[in-house]
Amino acid sequence: MDASDPLCPRPAPVRAVHHETADVFTLILDVSAIPGGAAFAPGQFMMLYVFGVGEAPISISGDARDSRTLAHTIRAVGGVTRALRNLRPGDVLGVRGPYGSAWPVAAARGRDVVIVAGGIGLAPLRPVIYHLLRRREDYGHINICCGARSPGDILYTGELQRWREEGDMQVMVTVDHGDPGWRGQVGVVTELLDRVRCDPANTLAFTCGPEIMMRFTVRKLRELGIAGEAIHVSMERNMHCAVGFCGHCQFGPLFVCKDGPVFPWPRIAPFFGIREL
Ligand SMILES: Cc1cc2nc3c(=O)[nH]c(=O)nc-3n(C[C@H](O)[C@H](O)[C@H](O)COP(=O)(O)OP(=O)(O)OC[C@H]3O[C@@H](n4cnc5c(N)ncnc54)[C@H](O)[C@@H]3O)c2cc1C
Repeated sequence: MDASDPLCPRPAPVRAVHHETADVFTLILDVSAIPGGAAFAPGQFMMLYVFGVGEAPISISGDARDSRTLAHTIRAVGGVTRALRNLRPGDVLGVRGPYGSAWPVAAARGRDVVIVAGGIGLAPLRPVIYHLLRRREDYGHINICCGARSPGDILYTGELQRWREEGDMQVMVTVDHGDPGWRGQVGVVTELLDRVRCDPANTLAFTCGPEIMMRFTVRKLRELGIAGEAIHVSMERNMHCAVGFCGHCQFGPLFVCKDGPVFPWPRIAPFFGIREL
């Protein structure tokens, strides 16, 4: 194994595991032994390798200021992600990256921001929120709209509360299906957009979630008067190499791994919604 090879996974011990919901967990990885740590920009992802099982692309969900640890929030859906769920503090996995494009947080300075997350789509947006919180005075109104399937599927509940109370941000949550204890909103996440506080001409919007949700979110943002170029979406496609060689994540003329995963809406609009692309 050539350790200078960018495709070579580096060992990273698991420092902690946080259980977020019944099927979602966050791994905190210690990357302090990797030269340069793991400096990343909000929106980028890593390839996580469970030895003997395989690799999966997973967004970085932690604070970009901390380059000695990486946080990854993961839903266990198949072979690799289930193996990741079985890891315990002290276990070692392989990491390579960070890869991909980032949310344009610098371009949002001086503007209002609308963040729209569906389910685990909040994970790649959390580093943006940390960034905005740290430089709160640089931004106008900040709106965070989160949708989840049920109250038990809402991610980072403690943080959502803190952002709402202390972050000078409008944080709104809705669920598809409530339960007897739920006193909040029931409905799709786009309904929250009726309540955002922003000047549409001076707003950047970031969205991540299931494609159908992003499609309706973009439509609603456009109806509110936000220009297509001001809307950024994060895409997911099956991925193997993550560096634009293998073509598994090809999306029209684009590779999600190196041209994305974060795209300005006009760049992918022509291909979005084409079945099985
Ligand atoms: C850029 C990028 C960032 C990502 N970030 C995250 C993240 O932060 N957290 C996270 O949990 N996942 C994330 N994913 C998705 C994750 O990579 C996949 O869920 C994972 O590769 C599945 O691998 P597996 O071996 O566990 O499942 P597989 O054995 O490959 O698949 C098992 C089953 O799950 C289905 N499946 C596979 N991928 C997905 C998916 N993306 N969504 C829904 N069903 C799927 C398959 O169709 C199959 O039915 C990201 C993907 C990309 C491309």
